Amino acid sequence: MNRSLFLDAFLKILEIPHKLVLTIHTNPDGDAVGSALALAAFLRVHNQEVTIVSPNKFPEFLSWLKGADHILIFDQQAKEVKARLQTADYVFCLDYNGVSRSGALQEDLLKLNCPLVLIDHHREPETDSFKLMYSNISVSSTAEMIYELIAETDVEQLKNQEIAEALFAGIMTDTGSFSHSINRAETFNAVARLIENGLDAVHVHQQIYDTFSENRLRLLGYSISNRMQVFNEFSTAVITLSKDDLNRFNFQIGDTEGIVNYPLSIHNIMMSVLITEKSDQIRFSFRSKGNFSVHELAKNHFNGGGHNNAAGGNLKLSFKEAIDYLIKVLPFYKNQLNS
Ligand code: 5GP
Ligand code: MN
Repeated sequence: MNRSLFLDAFLKILEIPHKLVLTIHTNPDGDAVGSALALAAFLRVHNQEVTIVSPNKFPEFLSWLKGADHILIFDQQAKEVKARLQTADYVFCLDYNGVSRSGALQEDLLKLNCPLVLIDHHREPETDSFKLMYSNISVSSTAEMIYELIAETDVEQLKNQEIAEALFAGIMTDTGSFSHSINRAETFNAVARLIENGLDAVHVHQQIYDTFSENRLRLLGYSISNRMQVFNEFSTAVITLSKDDLNRFNFQIGDTEGIVNYPLSIHNIMMSVLITEKSDQIRFSFRSKGNFSVHELAKNHFNGGGHNNAAGGNLKLSFKEAIDYLIKVLPFYKNQLNS
């Protein structure tokens, strides 16, 4: 569905009050939460009744955003979420490209009678699942897409600081504070306009990046000094964190966010992998520089996907098997990784 058709449909939704549920992907990040909060605030200005649902808990460093305390968490408030889904006129899917990425929510999403509306920037959206679709894989973040929607439908709301802070949080976190996915002038134009309209960008940055617990910073240090292996022959660095490692630093959701980016700062390292032992599966996080597509790697071998330079996946293996598996996969990509 092209952009102008989507805009028409979106404007139609705004015309009269509806019951709307905004959902985000499992293990939500700053873009997921920021996009949902900004869109929810915008829709409420337009007399829509909006509920935000996250499949599971979001990181503490996002909890200061206005409205975050009203987000329903499915794995803690299933009954209430199901009730909202049942009466919804539309269910939005923000910052994810396929129903399975909604984790524990997916069963309920598949049973819905109302239309699913996608707004997302990940590769290969699951086209058949969505009645309305706004997908653009060249945009920095879903928050930037929400920015565009607001700019085109009710530009005055870009002055609304609740909206502006949430949008900036999404754009900033999904670009690694403007270090990647930033080769479009539009991203900077969007931020410039938010700042012209009164956004305190430094405040948002500090709330998100200068609020670590001591344990979180020590876990980062430990990950790099004790748990990073460098495979120079594959231009790859791998950090492995077991459950014991996480317990040692009193792991809280969000504490491993960003760790995977650090190994890319090594000269000649083209890919960084973070392997984390979770209670029921192994989580893989991939980052790359240049042309090596971690989306393809994650899709082909790790039951996942994402973007060319940032992707994730999950496998049901033991921690040791997971590390061995990755080491077996790397040689197949040796030429690509070294080119
Ligand atoms: P992260 O490593 O930060 O968890 O994820 C990196 C990027 O890949 C994010 O944009 C995230 O939404 C996406 N991603 C993470 N895991 C998966 C997955 O299992 N499937 C797909 N399609 N995308 C993922
Ligand atoms: Mn995103």
